[in-house]
Amino acid sequence: MATPVLTIVVPCYNEEEVLPETIFQLSGVLNSFIQDHLISNASTMLLVDDGSKDATWELIERFHASNTFVTGLKLARNAGHQSALLAGLMKAKSYSDCVVSIDADLQDDLQAIREFIVKFHEGYDVVYGVRQDRSADTFFKRATAQGFYKLMTSMGVKIHYNHADFRLMSRRTLDQLEKFQEVNLFLRGMVPLLGFPSTKVYYDRKERFAGESKYPFKKMLAFAFDGITSFSVTPIRFVTMMGFLLFALSVVAAVYAIIGKIMGANVTGWTSLILSVWFIGGIQLLAIGLIGEYIGKIYKEVKHRPLFVIEKELTTTEQELTKRPVQASSAGR
Ligand code: UDP
Ligand code: MG
Repeated sequence: MATPVLTIVVPCYNEEEVLPETIFQLSGVLNSFIQDHLISNASTMLLVDDGSKDATWELIERFHASNTFVTGLKLARNAGHQSALLAGLMKAKSYSDCVVSIDADLQDDLQAIREFIVKFHEGYDVVYGVRQDRSADTFFKRATAQGFYKLMTSMGVKIHYNHADFRLMSRRTLDQLEKFQEVNLFLRGMVPLLGFPSTKVYYDRKERFAGESKYPFKKMLAFAFDGITSFSVTPIRFVTMMGFLLFALSVVAAVYAIIGKIMGANVTGWTSLILSVWFIGGIQLLAIGLIGEYIGKIYKEVKHRPLFVIEKELTTTEQELTKRPVQASSAGR
């Protein structure tokens, strides 16, 4: 196999403080991979400016002029990390054999990319970078991240523990990803849905090289909520379950109230009042849950996710056709 063309996609939002160092390090990495004949010399990095308010784009332009490894993509407005990343991936896939996505802040180990490429050569289509050591992150960040993974898994969303968006993807997986056409992007939940041979590479996560996290707690919560509601109808099902539960309880309450009434222990009007409260409450929740079920179905339909992904195809080549008819002994049984 000829050496593959690699593109490293880097979403950048207000990253002027880290960008020069990031470009320097990524250029070094690309250069050494080319020297070692791991990747083609047409490999580059694609810096996606996600509508930054600082000098990020000016920096990209400046480096592009002097550094052949640097290419850029400027988004018209801040689209958010996931959308910026997707923009870069879709741009890069037209001219790359494989694409690595990485954050601009140098928190992920660039040396792991070498292992990504090795795995790609071994035939893997997706290589997930998985953080082994998160001690560089604050306790709060670790705890919330862990809670998030647990919650996602319990809701039936398949994501890889401690994997963010540091990964390698082959061109054919990106072609499939393009078909997803989703608005609420949660890439790390979507990639496992693609299938294809995949593997993991472990690395230690470092501290942000410079600048501040562009994911404050509020954005993180929104991201988590997006992740769950984009992949799971479990919350709706929960409402239905509550409805059933309350309805069952209302039956118990009915028995209790009626016994009370027969025994004459109740204040007049209490029985009918309390019964309606429980009954109506239960029925209402049930109804909402039921409507929710349908909305859930509609929601899955409008997503238009591809129903299957074809990995390989066995076809007869022109050359084989000329060898026909085959000998009786080797003909199909
Ligand atoms: N980012 C982006 N658009 C945004 C927010 C963030 O492109 O609206 C980029 C950011 O420049 C960085 C990556 O997404 O390259 C991850 O952000 P950050 O490192 O701040 O997140 P954290 O590591 O704290 O989760
Ligand atoms: Mg970061």
